[in-house]
Amino acid sequence: MKNIKDYDLEALKQEFIQIGEKPYRAEQVFKWIYVEKVTNFDEMTNLSLELREKLKQMYGMYNFNIIKKQESSDGTKKYLFDVLDENAIETVLMSYHHGYTICVSSQIGCKMGCKFCASTGIQFIRSLTSGEIVEQILAVERDNDIRISNVVFMGIGEPLDNYENVINAIKIINNQKGINIGARHISISTSGLVPKIYQLAEENIQCTLSISLHATTDEKRSSMMPVNNRYNIQELLQACKDYIEKTNRRISFEYALAKDNNDNLEDAKRLVKLLKGMICHVNLIPINKIDNGKYIKSSNENIIKFRDYLNEHGIVATIRRELGSDIDAACGQLRRKNKIENGGSVYGK
Ligand code: SAH
Repeated sequence: MKNIKDYDLEALKQEFIQIGEKPYRAEQVFKWIYVEKVTNFDEMTNLSLELREKLKQMYGMYNFNIIKKQESSDGTKKYLFDVLDENAIETVLMSYHHGYTICVSSQIGCKMGCKFCASTGIQFIRSLTSGEIVEQILAVERDNDIRISNVVFMGIGEPLDNYENVINAIKIINNQKGINIGARHISISTSGLVPKIYQLAEENIQCTLSISLHATTDEKRSSMMPVNNRYNIQELLQACKDYIEKTNRRISFEYALAKDNNDNLEDAKRLVKLLKGMICHVNLIPINKIDNGKYIKSSNENIIKFRDYLNEHGIVATIRRELGSDIDAACGQLRRKNKIENGGSVYGK
C-alpha cells in the first residue's frame, strides 16, 4: 500500500487529482498529518466518511512503533523504531538550549564502510523512503509532545546515496503548511559523494551541507574512508567550492580527532591550507571509539590545541559537545550491539 507520507504537498495534490478528488482535499490531509499530527484517517473530521474510507483503502499512515527507547543522563534519547517490514532504524533526539535537534537515519545500514564508524560491518538492507524519514520526526514529536526545531541527517546511512528520497523528505519537512522547519535548520552530512554535491548545489534548497572530511592527505583519508578512493580530497573540495559559490551557503566540515592518527599540528596546518578562503566552519569531534575499532579519542589537550591553531589561522572551529555517549547514541555509535554480538542480522527482529 502507498505511504501517504511519501508525498510533498504538490505531489499529494497531483495524486488526489488522479484519484478524482479536489486538490484542496490534499491540503486538508497534509495539515492533519503534519500540523495536527493525527495518526489515522478517522481523525480527519473535515473529510466525508466516504472519502476517509477511500483513503484508508488506498494509503497507509505507516506510524512507527517504538521497539526500544534509551535515555541518557544528559537527556538525549535514542529510539529504535519498527519500520513495519521486519526492519528497524535508529533515531536520536537531543535537547539544546535553543530547542530540540533530531538526528535521523536515511538508510537501513550503510555502504560507505568508514573504518571508525559503528554502522560499518552492518549489512546494508535498503534506503528509507521519504515517508520513513519524515515519520522519524513525527514519531519522536508524538512520544515527547514537543516540536522539533532542527534536523540533521547524521544517523545511519549516507543521505546522498538516497538522494531523491532525502530531497523529497526535506521538501515535506520544510513545507510551511506542514512541519515547517526552515531549510537553514536542516543539515545534510555526507562522506563525500562528489557528483551528488554538484547536484545538490542546483536544488535551490537552503539547507546546510556538512562534509565528513576527517583527514588532510589522500593517503590518510583513504585509510579511514574508502570513498576517498573514488573521490579524492581535491575533487571533494572543488565540489564544495562550487557549492559555496552557487548557494552562498557556508559549509561545515566534520573532523573526528583520533589519537596519533589525524590530530597533530601538521594535520592542523594542512587543514588550514586546504580550507583557506572557503566560507566554512570546522566541527571538531572527539572520535568515539567503537568496539574492535583501532581509533581512540585524542586527548583534551590535543583537541584544544588543534582548535586554537585553526582559529588563530583564520578557520572558525568549534569542538562538538558529546551527547548521549553513555547510551551509544553519539556520532557513529548507532547500531544494535546485541545483534552484532550474536552475529545475526542487525536489523532483523
Ligand atoms: N554518511 C554520512 C552521515 C552519517 S555519519 C556522513 O558520513 O557524513 C554522521 C557523522 O558522524 C559523520 O561526520 C561521520 O564521519 C561521523 N562519525 C561516524 N563515526 C564516528 C565516530 N566513531 N566518532 C566520531 N564521529 C563519527
